Amino acid sequence: AVPLVVAISTSMGAASGLLVRDRRGLEEARNLDAVIFDKTGTLTLGEFRVVSMRVAEGLSEDEALRIAASVEAESEHPIARGIVESARERGLEVPDARDFQNITGKGVVATVDGRTYRMGGPGMVEGVEMPEALRKAAVEAGENARTAIYLIDGERAVALFAVADAIREESFEAVKALHDRGIEVAMLTGDSRAVADAVARELGIDRVFAQVLPEDKADKVKELQSQGKTVAMVGDGVNDAPALATADVGVAIGAGTDVAVEAGHIVLVRSDPRDIPRIVALSKATRRKMV
Ligand code: ADP
Ligand code: MG
Repeated sequence: AVPLVVAISTSMGAASGLLVRDRRGLEEARNLDAVIFDKTGTLTLGEFRVVSMRVAEGLSEDEALRIAASVEAESEHPIARGIVESARERGLEVPDARDFQNITGKGVVATVDGRTYRMGGPGMVEGVEMPEALRKAAVEAGENARTAIYLIDGERAVALFAVADAIREESFEAVKALHDRGIEVAMLTGDSRAVADAVARELGIDRVFAQVLPEDKADKVKELQSQGKTVAMVGDGVNDAPALATADVGVAIGAGTDVAVEAGHIVLVRSDPRDIPRIVALSKATRRKMV
């Protein structure tokens, strides 16, 4: 049977926008030493736009963006959605792509007008011919805390898109409230070191795990656990599911993917990072009633 205090706290949770799927997570929350947040879509809005671009000789910006949006059209990644939206805002007609393939944590592949293209970050350009102008644009993007995404035609990079996302207003308060409780705050992302550090600096985050491959995300949770810490992981993506399952407290963003939601102990219905310190408070209040 479910203890009455837990049942009450669970309904309190529901009233405040928390869905408790596994109450062990709620019980562990009172012991938290560290919270690891996924960056994109959790601490940030996950609403990207193309803010600048550089194209290789022989290609126009509109043409590059048109192909890029076509390659990304079937991807659910927030970067992909941002590129498609940017093309739409420019009034570009996006042709249908064929043979779409997702390469988790790296990017996508698809065929447009009979040519095979790839779109992706630094993890996608190994062994790819890189025009000097694009290399420079990628460095500039990093310096401006923007994510660099390449369009690769066969084995040659032909365009560089600098995409940007905004930090959620609520993230500042969430980090502060956790610090006030003496809880360490970490950030985990597949994004570049430059972008990750810029976001972390702005939010006052203690520890940054950048350029982490999807399959290695759970290891970062284990790394902190092996230091004797009780760890919460907060994420939204398919990639985050193993890390959510590994954490002592797995918290899924309600607006995220079903896979993440199913892997979490607790679901944030309002997708508000300030609900993490609220969970700690709720967990502590529950214990007080039990003793
Ligand atoms: P995160 O959830 O932290 O954004 P991901 O593992 O989803 O990390 O992605 C890691 C990196 O892989 C992104 O920063 C980007 O460089 C690249 N990437 C992933 N998916 C796409 C995509 N659909 N289009 C372009 N780049 C992508
Ligand atoms: Mg993510």
